[in-house]
Amino acid sequence: MVNSTIIVHGGAGDWPKSKQAVGLSGVRQAATQGFRLLRQGQSSIQAVEAAVMEMEDNPVFNAGSGSTLNLAGYVEADAGIMDGKTRRGAGVALLRRTKNPISLARLVMEKTDHALLAGKSAERLGEAFGLPKANLKLPERAYQWKQAKRRLAKGVLDNFSRNLKLIRSKGQTIVGDTVGALAIDQNGNLAAADSTGGVSLKLPGRIGDSPILGAGLYADNRIGAATATGIGEIAMRLVVSKLACDAMQSLTAQQAASQTINMVTKLAGRGLGIVTLDRKGRYGVAHNTPHLCWASLTKNRGLVSQIHL
Ligand code: ASP
Repeated sequence: MVNSTIIVHGGAGDWPKSKQAVGLSGVRQAATQGFRLLRQGQSSIQAVEAAVMEMEDNPVFNAGSGSTLNLAGYVEADAGIMDGKTRRGAGVALLRRTKNPISLARLVMEKTDHALLAGKSAERLGEAFGLPKANLKLPERAYQWKQAKRRLAKGVLDNFSRNLKLIRSKGQTIVGDTVGALAIDQNGNLAAADSTGGVSLKLPGRIGDSPILGAGLYADNRIGAATATGIGEIAMRLVVSKLACDAMQSLTAQQAASQTINMVTKLAGRGLGIVTLDRKGRYGVAHNTPHLCWASLTKNRGLVSQIHL
């Protein structure tokens, strides 16, 4: 029997002091929730879905309710899930009113032939299966959006400098922190899941790495599981989750995470974090952002959590 393990994260980026305690308590709660299922003998897929749902329902995280808003001021949430046993996986994107995007991703993985579904049609599938709906746009995010728009008006854009040029030349008419979990269950099956509101002030219609297998997440029982957080464009261009998994063929989970982030820093610069889990239940965490908020739970080591600096 394998030693069941879960590791969850609440996003890479800047975790201000005022939010660190609630962030840590949120990831601890999610890890505890997922691990409870593993201990009951449930699958790693059940565990990662439950852990991510917990964080989607917690407004401190940029996923589900609490998602950041795009440039036009509305939510377009993405999520992905992958089963390391079957190597089946799926993502959903551009969701506005599905309460738990991760459950819709699981539904696409288990009930359809597809690996990515987006927008209204994806949400209609969820409705057909009775998934609950919710208004994902919370007042706190609307306030942050207004402040970010003010910075934008002054020419300060946190992430997307080319978008800034585009907005200036075309006007506003063109316009329209992520969570993740990895687990291994007692049968040695790995799973990965993630969910996000995306990067704030993204262009409407932009899909990030989180629903893209290989970029935002990957799981394969033969090698390991990984999930990324940060600027999705970097994760997609460098296919970082698959790279980190491949690295675990010869390296430990921590070495694979560090090697992947070093490569990202060299090739694409700062803005990414990754967590990894290998076939023996050993995990790794690395990032080149100011912080990464994570928690892990195993029988041997108990609950470990950190806002990683
Ligand atoms: N990776 C996510 C995205 O680009 C954002 C995040 O991790 O905070 O959509």
